[in-house]
Formats: sequence, structure tokens, C-alpha cells
Amino acid sequence: MPELRQNLATKEWVIIASDRPLRPQDMRSKAPAKAAAERDPKCPFCPGNEKESDQISVLGGDKGWRVRVVGSKVPALVAGAPKVEPMGNVFRRLPGEGLHEIIVESPSHSKSLAELERDAVEDVLGVYQERFKAAADNMKVALTLLFKNHPGTSISHPHSQLVACSVVPAHIRHRMDEAQKYYEQNKECVVCRMVEEELAQKARVVVEGKSFVAFVLFAALSPFHLWIVPKKHSAAFHELSASDADDLAGVLQTVLRKLKNGLGDPEYSFVIQSIPQDRGATEAFHWYMSLVVRVGATAGFELGSGMHLNSVVPEHAAKFLVDVKA
Ligand SMILES: [Zn+2]
Ligand SMILES: [Zn+2]
Repeated sequence: MPELRQNLATKEWVIIASDRPLRPQDMRSKAPAKAAAERDPKCPFCPGNEKESDQISVLGGDKGWRVRVVGSKVPALVAGAPKVEPMGNVFRRLPGEGLHEIIVESPSHSKSLAELERDAVEDVLGVYQERFKAAADNMKVALTLLFKNHPGTSISHPHSQLVACSVVPAHIRHRMDEAQKYYEQNKECVVCRMVEEELAQKARVVVEGKSFVAFVLFAALSPFHLWIVPKKHSAAFHELSASDADDLAGVLQTVLRKLKNGLGDPEYSFVIQSIPQDRGATEAFHWYMSLVVRVGATAGFELGSGMHLNSVVPEHAAKFLVDVKA
């Protein structure tokens, strides 16, 4: 029978339609992407074409770089955005101030994070942290989001993106307020509580490292909706220690390898949810990485209600991934 489940941290409800005969293995990509060449002479992110983009930072030196950060060619927001004329209280507008950076994960045109050497994934996470910290130190930035779409939507060379903006969207403010409310009522962080319970139950845990755990959410919004969370309380992603960052690289890569081996290189997105800069220090918020495999399309019911319908029981999805070789 179907049931309703709620995520304690976000308060989002989902319908788990458990009587549907759909199994996780039915989610396999029908047509796995064709293997790309290691280099594409026409790709702006491939070695040899560095002049095509504005470099912000580089790891490993200009010759023989390992990770490169460049400005987006089509930025969502820009630093030093021109002033806009106010239009009164009803029609509020602000300059499109912010940052939009592209993190080119490696010189390889074809290797995804799942296929890179472990050291190379650690390099990528180190650059994520460096760019996150730079954005956090920028007085004009209120919220930083670091995300990845696999495969990329316009350029196939594996890359992640950082977008920093001067406002905090309602959706994120709501989460912060819920976390604060839970903290005041229970004198503990809601995500710490969830992690404790997931580690005790083990029913949805996919990978457990020394300092990170990856689990399918109890109220997963779609069949493979996972959180990768630091086991110890921490509000800001960029404050991660070097050894914890190495552990995160291992846990993330294991999850991505399991998805690739179990589901045939599916499309996925992940995003790092860290504390907005305007919140100051708080014990209420706990950062995490949220990962969603793109299966099925959002339909009318989801659009209208904001409530998702998940056709795979989260415990079944977790068990499936645990059994897949990484
Ligand atoms: Zn390339
Ligand atoms: Zn916590």
C-alpha cells in the first residue's frame, strides 16, 4: 500500500507508492552514453584550448594542470553588476550581483568523477573547498551553491559549477527556519539526529566512511535520492579538514561508482547545501550533499502540489546499491 513519509529536516512530504511492481534494477539507463574520446580538439575545457576561457584558479600549474576554474561564458550572475533603478515596493529588483564559476574536474574529456583516480577526486574536492571559501569571504555573497550535472547540459567535458548570489531564496530560508525551530525545541541539530538514527537502523545506509555517511533518505523524493553527510556536526562545507575531505572523496566516489555499475551511467545531479553567509555561526544547521538520479520527469501532480511521488521504496533502493560492486 502507498504511504506518506516526511523528511524531518526539510518537512517535505513524499508519497511512497510501494505497491508498484517497479524494482530499482528497472531504473537502468536504456541507452548508456557512448564512450567519449580522451581529448576533443573542439572542447573549450580540453588541454590546449585554455585561451578560450578566463582562468580564475588552477591546480597543478598552467602546464600540466589537474583542476582548472574558469568564469562561465553565460554567467547566471556577475561580479560588479550594474545598478538597477528601483521600481517601488511592489516590483522589487536588485542588480544581478554574484559569481558563476566552472570547475573543470580534470584534463580528461571522458573520465567522470566515478572513473577518475581517487587522488584526482580529492583534488576536485580541494578546489570545491577553496572556491567555496573565496565565495564565503565575499561580502556581496549571501548564498553559495556548488553543484554538478552529469552529464553536463551544454559541454560534455566533466565539470561542476559554483553560483553565488546576493539573496537567499525562500526554499533555503524555509529549511534554515525549520532547522532553527527543531534546534530550539529539541536542543539538538536535526541532521545530527537523523544521522544517528540512520547509523543505528542501517536500513538505508549505502556507504559509511570514517567521517561521512551516504544514505538513501527515509522520505526520498525519487528512487535514488541520497544525502552524503558529515557524521560530526558542521555547518559550513568549506571548514572541512583535509583528512575529512579525503574521506568525503572516497564516500562520494563509491556512491558514484555504485550508481554507474548498478544503473548503467545514469544522469544525476548533486548539490552542496552549506550554511548561507548571513546566518552567522549556528548549532542548528548541518551541511550536506544532496544527490538525485534523474529518472522520470516531474509531472502535473508534482508541479501543483510540490509533493513528489516515489515509486521505489527507499530501503529497497539502498539495499540494491549496497549489493552493487563499487
Ligand atoms: Zn574536453
Ligand atoms: Zn548537526
